[in-house]
Amino acid sequence: MTPEEAREKFGRRAQRCAGCYVAFLVRDLWWADDGNYYCAHCHSDHPGIAVHFSDYADGFDFSQLPSLNE
Ligand SMILES: [Zn+2]
Repeated sequence: MTPEEAREKFGRRAQRCAGCYVAFLVRDLWWADDGNYYCAHCHSDHPGIAVHFSDYADGFDFSQLPSLNE
């Protein structure tokens, strides 16, 4: 699996927003400094820092995540 394939695979995962508990794809969510994911509606309510998938995914090698290699 190439880093690009791993990033695409990770982005297609379903994840619940920690604010409204609606499930979204990870690539549509913001990842916050509390370790939770927030949707477009909830990330601005998070008191800390939240970065969108497109902002952190470019520099991250998802192919190193053991859970993606199952
Ligand atoms: Zn939400």
